[in-house]
Amino acid sequence: MRLNELTIKQASQGLKQGEFTSVELTRACLAEIKKRNGELNAVLTICEEEALAEAKQADERISAGAAGELTGIPYLAKDNYLTRGVRTTAASKILENYIAPFDATVIKKLREAGAVLLGKTNLDEFAHGSSTENSAFGPTKNPHDLTRVPGGSSGGSAAAVAANFCLFALGSDTGGSIRHPSAFCGTVGLKPTYGRASRFGIIAMTSSTDVPGPITKTVEDAGIVQAAISGHDQNDFTTADVPVPDYDKEIKNNIKGIKIGVPHEFFLKGIDKEVEKKVREAIESLKKQGAEIVDISLPHTKYALPAYYIITPCEISTNLGRFDGIRYGLSEQAEAKSLAEIYIKTRGKGFGAEAKRRIMLGTYALSAGYYDAYYLQAQKVRTIIIEEFASAFKEVDVIITPTTPDIAFKFGANKDPLKMYLEDIFTLSPSLAGLPAISVPCGTVDKMPVGCQIIGRKFEEGTVMKIASKI
Ligand code: GLN
Repeated sequence: MRLNELTIKQASQGLKQGEFTSVELTRACLAEIKKRNGELNAVLTICEEEALAEAKQADERISAGAAGELTGIPYLAKDNYLTRGVRTTAASKILENYIAPFDATVIKKLREAGAVLLGKTNLDEFAHGSSTENSAFGPTKNPHDLTRVPGGSSGGSAAAVAANFCLFALGSDTGGSIRHPSAFCGTVGLKPTYGRASRFGIIAMTSSTDVPGPITKTVEDAGIVQAAISGHDQNDFTTADVPVPDYDKEIKNNIKGIKIGVPHEFFLKGIDKEVEKKVREAIESLKKQGAEIVDISLPHTKYALPAYYIITPCEISTNLGRFDGIRYGLSEQAEAKSLAEIYIKTRGKGFGAEAKRRIMLGTYALSAGYYDAYYLQAQKVRTIIIEEFASAFKEVDVIITPTTPDIAFKFGANKDPLKMYLEDIFTLSPSLAGLPAISVPCGTVDKMPVGCQIIGRKFEEGTVMKIASKI
C-alpha cells in the first residue's frame, strides 16, 4: 500500500512507530496530486512549501513524543475556508486572488493538532450546487468515471479523498454538500449538528444551516477529525458549549436493540431502483446485527426542498452583499464613474450565473410585499420539519435514508437548475433541522458508489457514526 492510500488511523500508528515520517507521507500525497490533478481538477491551490515545513515540524513533535492522532497527517480544505497566507477563492472570479489575513477556527484547530495543510479544493462557486460544475475554475471529475460529476458542492474534497490525494479533507455542508459528493465518490462524509463546530472563517452561504465537517476514507477517521474541530468558539456564538464525546469509543459499541427508523417518504418515486436496493440491503444487514427496524413517516419531507430553496437564496442575497468591489477581491473601480457602477460592474463580472440567480431570488423573496408569502412561509414549514423530526426521535434512535436518488450523473445532465435542486431532496431536511447526518458507502451500481444516509438527534454524532460503521 502506498503511503497516501493509508487511513488516518493507520498513518498515525505508522508515524508513531517510526515506520515513515510526515515529510515522506506529505511528499507521497503531493506526488499523487501532481500526477492526477490535471485530469481531475480537484485541487485549486497547492501549498507545497508550507506543507513540507509543517510536516517537518510535525516530525519533530512526533520524535518528542508530543503527537496527537492528527499530528503529521496531510489534508486538503475546501476553498471556502479562510487560510492565512494561502489564497481562498470560493471558486469564484470575484475572489480569484484573495488572500485571507487569518485562519478559520477549524483550520486553526487542525494546525494546533499538527495536521498538514496540502492545499485547497474545488467547489461549486460559493458552495451553490450539487455537481461542482458551477466552479469558475472548471468542474472536478469523478475519480471513478471521468465522464461523471463528483457531486457537490464539496466535489473537490470528496474526489481528492477518493483519489488518495490526501488522508482526509474538509467540506462544508449547507444542504448536503458534504454528504452528496461523498455518496457520489464513495467516501464517508459527516455533517455534524449545527453549532457543534465553528463557522468562523468559512465564507458564509446560508448562516442558519452552514456547518464544517470531515470527508474521510472510514467512519473511524471521521470521528477523529470531528473531535478535533468541534467545540465552542468565542468568534461564533452559534457554537454550543457542550462536551465533545469520545467518538472512537462510541463508534466501537454494538448496535443491539438500537431503533432505526425508515421513513417511507424517502423511498417513493424518483429514486433509482438499484440505489434503493443497496440501501435496503444495508438496512437488512443492520437488522441482522441486532438493530430494530421501525417504519416511520415524515410527511413534510416533500416541502423541505421548496422551503430550503427560499431560505437559502434569502440568506445568500444578504451574505454575498459584502462582495462589493471595495472590501474584498475583484474591483472594477478603475472602470466605474460612480459608486453604483463599482458595485454593478464588479458584481456583474465577478459572480457566476448560479450566484446571480440566488441573489435575485433571495432579494425578491425578502422584499416588502413578498416577505410574508415566501420567507416567512418557508420558515414556518421549517418549524414543522423540526417538530416532525423531534417526534420521530421519541420513537427511534436514528433514521436511515438514501443520500441521493441516483448514482453520479454525467456532466451536463442537470443543466436545468430546478432539476439540479432535486439532487438534494434527501439531504435538505436534516440541514433545515440542524441535525447530524452522515453519508456512508453501501455498495455500487454500475461500478459507481452508492451512499446511505444516517440522521441522528442533535449532538448525537457518535450514535450516527456507530451505525454507519456497521454498514
Ligand atoms: N446543493 C445544495 C445547494 O445548492 C447544497 C449546497 C451546500 O450544502 N453547500 O444549495
